[in-house]
Amino acid sequence: MLNSADSIKQCARLVKRQVERGDQVVVVTSALSGITDRLLKVAKDLETAKRSDARAVIDQFCDRLLEDHISVAREVADPGAKEISSKLRSLVALLKTDLAHIAGKDASARTMDRIASMGERLSTPIFAAALSSLGVRAVDLTGGEAGIVTDSNFGDAMPKMDVCRTTIKSRLESLISEGITPVVTGFAAQDESGAITTLGRGGSDYTASILGACLGVDEIWIWKDVGGIMTANPKVVSEAKTIPLISYAEAAELAYFGAKVLHPRTMGPAMQAGISIRVKDATAPDRSGTLISNGTTQVPGAVKAVTSMDDVGLISVSGTGMVGLPGVAAKVFKSLARGKVNVMMISQSSSETNITIAVKLSDIPACRRILSSAFRGDAAVREIAFDEDVSIVSVVGSGMKGTPGVAARVFKAVADAGASVIMIAQGSSEMNISFLVRKQDSARVVLSIHREFRLHQLPDA
Ligand code: ASP
Ligand code: MG
Repeated sequence: MLNSADSIKQCARLVKRQVERGDQVVVVTSALSGITDRLLKVAKDLETAKRSDARAVIDQFCDRLLEDHISVAREVADPGAKEISSKLRSLVALLKTDLAHIAGKDASARTMDRIASMGERLSTPIFAAALSSLGVRAVDLTGGEAGIVTDSNFGDAMPKMDVCRTTIKSRLESLISEGITPVVTGFAAQDESGAITTLGRGGSDYTASILGACLGVDEIWIWKDVGGIMTANPKVVSEAKTIPLISYAEAAELAYFGAKVLHPRTMGPAMQAGISIRVKDATAPDRSGTLISNGTTQVPGAVKAVTSMDDVGLISVSGTGMVGLPGVAAKVFKSLARGKVNVMMISQSSSETNITIAVKLSDIPACRRILSSAFRGDAAVREIAFDEDVSIVSVVGSGMKGTPGVAARVFKAVADAGASVIMIAQGSSEMNISFLVRKQDSARVVLSIHREFRLHQLPDA
C-alpha cells in the first residue's frame, strides 16, 4: 500500500518493528499509487501518436515520473542517499528508450511488460532506501533477481513453481541469513530467457505468495489501505465489515468475482504450501484484518460476502434447432477458447434452446467476431445476442454447501431490491451463487443481500 512518502515510511516502520522482534522478513513492493495506470496510459497514447509528437509526450511524461519518484525518495531516504537518485534516473532512461520504440506502432506484449513493470522497479529501490534510513539492512531486487521465473505469457505470466523453488531459495536465503532484508519488485518477474514479464494487474500480492511458498515462510502478510477482505465493497455498502477468517477457496472465489482486494491467483501457491495469508490495514496495523487459511469457520447464515462485477457482457446463443443436437455447446466453447476468450459463467436452459455465457466486457467484440464466423450458415442456431448492460453479483461462503434455503433468501433479497435476475449459475462447489442483473440494479441488490444475511452485524476486527 504505497500511496505517498508517508505511507512508505509507515510501511518501512512496520517492517522494522518485525525485524526488531527477531523475524526474518522479505518485502514485496507494489508501484506507488496510480503509477502503473499512468504507464499503461502513456504507452497506449503513444501507439497512436504521430512520431513527430511522440518526443515531447515522452519527455514530459518521463520528467514528471522521475520528479515524482525523486521527491518521494528524498522524503523517505537519508538526504545523503545519492545512489538512489542516480538509480531512478537510469531506470527512467530505460523507460524512455522503450517508449520511443513503441511510438506510432503496436507495442509488443514483451515491450509492454518492460513498461508496465517500471512502477515497481522504481518503488523498490525507494523502499529499500527507506529501510536503510531506519537502520534496517536492505537490498532491492527485481523479481527476476529474486529468482521468480515465469513462462513467456507477457502481461499475465505464470510462475514455473518447480524452477522457482530452487532459484528463489538460492537467491534469497543467504541474504536473509546474513540479516539483510530483501526488497523485491512485486508484479514483475522474468522468463527463462531473462525478459521481464508481469503477473497480471494487482500481481504484487501474487509475488508475495510465490516467494512465501517457495521460502516456506510462517505467514504471508499483505498490507492494503482497507480493513482486509470485506463482506462487500465498502464503496457500494458503507456498512461492510472486515471478514475475520476465510478459507483459501472462499478468498479465491471472492477475488475472482470482483472483490478487488487480492489478485485471484494469490491463494494458489500459499494454499499448496499450507501457509496462511493475513490481509492487513496499513493505516490501522494493530487490527487483525483477515486471516486466510485452511480452516473454514461457519458463520451464521452461511454467507460470508457479496460482490458485484460491472465490466461483464452476456452472450446468448439460441435456436429451437439446438434441442437434442449434440455439439452446439462444444462448438461455442471450442471457438471461444481458440480465440483466447475466458468464459466466466455458463448456463443452459433445460429446454436446450439456449446457452448463455458471461465474459469480460472487453472480450465482447472478439466474441462477436468469433461466434458469427463459427456459426455462419449453421441452421441449428437462430440467433446470437449480446448484452453489455449487465453485472454479475456473487454470494460467497463455504457454509452454503448443504445448507438449505440460502438460495431462497438470496433471491428474496433480489426481489426486495426490485431487480430481476437475468441468468443464474451455481458453482458445483456450492461455495458461491452467481447471477446476472441489470447494471443499474447491482448496487441495490448487493446492499439488499448484505442486509438479508446481516453481514453488517459482524463484530469489528
Ligand atoms: N502495480 C501493479 C498494478 O497496479 C501491481 C500491483 O499493484 O499489485 O496492477
Ligand atoms: Mg498498483
